[in-house]
Amino acid sequence: MTQKSLVEEMQQVQLAIELIELGARLQVLETETDLSRARLIRLFKEVRGMSPPKGMLPFSTDWFITWLPNVHASLFYNIYRNLLVGQKCERMQAFVTAYRLYNEQVSIDQAEPVLGLTRAWTLVRFFESELLQLSTCTHCGGHFVAHAHSPDHDYACGICMPPSRAGKTRKRREREAAVDDCATPRVTQVG
Ligand SMILES: [Zn+2]
Repeated sequence: MTQKSLVEEMQQVQLAIELIELGARLQVLETETDLSRARLIRLFKEVRGMSPPKGMLPFSTDWFITWLPNVHASLFYNIYRNLLVGQKCERMQAFVTAYRLYNEQVSIDQAEPVLGLTRAWTLVRFFESELLQLSTCTHCGGHFVAHAHSPDHDYACGICMPPSRAGKTRKRREREAAVDDCATPRVTQVG
């Protein structure tokens, strides 16, 4: 084995450990590193003290368009894109850094992180497959995750235009408004 491949392998192990610590599923590690499945499972057990969970990855773009996930996904993706394009970071380095910064921002805002690492990775893959686009809000100017090819000339984001409560009874509307006030996330730095 040459020296270069040893260094490369070490970097891959380091990346895998970082991703596992941040909550990556096995499929993420298998896609993003050349390490064998057996080694990844061993690494996972050593880092997390348990076997990797089984099951399918989330595969629908719709989740990222629903209200609260959209705010979080947009926050994360703006950070990622800034590191990747603006700062010219390497792809996975940009991803890991963006995910850490997203979590920091959420904790500063005293909100719960909605976007798990595997979801964030799926989001990046959806953008790479051109299934999603960033639409610019005509009210606040922020960039928000939207379905690819959706018309956005009069797009309004979920913060400027929270979901309509039309069609509900007044009593129910008031009750839900009271709940919403407590649950409204204080995510302000999108875009
Ligand atoms: Zn807006």
